[in-house]
Amino acid sequence: MQDYLVRGVASDGSFRIFAARTTNTVEEARIRHNCWPVATAALGRTMTAALLMGANLKGEDILSIRVLGDGPLGAVLVTANAKGQVRGYVQEPQIHLPSTPEGKLPVGAAVGKGHLHITRDLGLKEPFTGSVELVSGEIAEDIAHYLTTSEQTPSAVSLGVLVDTDNSVLAAGGLWLQLLPGTSDEVLDILERNLSQLPHLSSLIKDGKTPEDIIQRVTQDIEIKILESMPVGFSCQCSRERLENLLIGIGKEEVSAMLEEEGQAEINCHFCAEQYHFNKEDLQEILKRIDQKQA
Ligand code: ZN
Repeated sequence: MQDYLVRGVASDGSFRIFAARTTNTVEEARIRHNCWPVATAALGRTMTAALLMGANLKGEDILSIRVLGDGPLGAVLVTANAKGQVRGYVQEPQIHLPSTPEGKLPVGAAVGKGHLHITRDLGLKEPFTGSVELVSGEIAEDIAHYLTTSEQTPSAVSLGVLVDTDNSVLAAGGLWLQLLPGTSDEVLDILERNLSQLPHLSSLIKDGKTPEDIIQRVTQDIEIKILESMPVGFSCQCSRERLENLLIGIGKEEVSAMLEEEGQAEINCHFCAEQYHFNKEDLQEILKRIDQKQA
């Protein structure tokens, strides 16, 4: 089943709503980075949030989320674009912590205290970055706090990743309700009621509920329009050419040292863990290109 995202708006324009199923996307990230459960949950929630927020971008815009906590997971870094493509990694994917008293994965404890930074690169000279202190490290609360305080868009965010006993991803998804100015008290009351009765996102997805079903439950008794449905997935923009340029940028000394000491180079893309191999001839060619550039 292809993961996808649905975008809707209240008929009276008082809120936007986004819902996504991201089970395969998160599973691909888990496999690529060999994540253990708590890392899968933290990375999966952050990737899902980036996809939901990415649905508000246009064209070539890029959104990055950095969760920088002092917990054992280290940093969680994710980027998404307007085309439903997301990639990301967590600094320490193989850690284990005891479950919370409710039997949940201890994402908050694994992330720790720190800050959440969100950058929007809209192709202008300066990308825009906003930051907030982490509220709980559970990601959804932190993103909602960021949207409400840093971007002044009161939001409800729900993110869920359910990990199976064999560590694979059983279900993942998310919901973002973004209030726009002038929402009536009546609509707010209905949304609040519906949200309070909403089961956990990952159990809805596990039970086969679609993003449309989830939006329908949250907006029960309110008239809405579905604007778009688009496929989403894990996708990295790295390439051999980009890494060659990176090596050229590193400079002659470093590349010569690689050539002398190792006779080759293995470079991993942080975001997708793809491995690129450069043999002796490749490195010699890169050195030639550095010389040409400096000539
Ligand atoms: Zn990559």
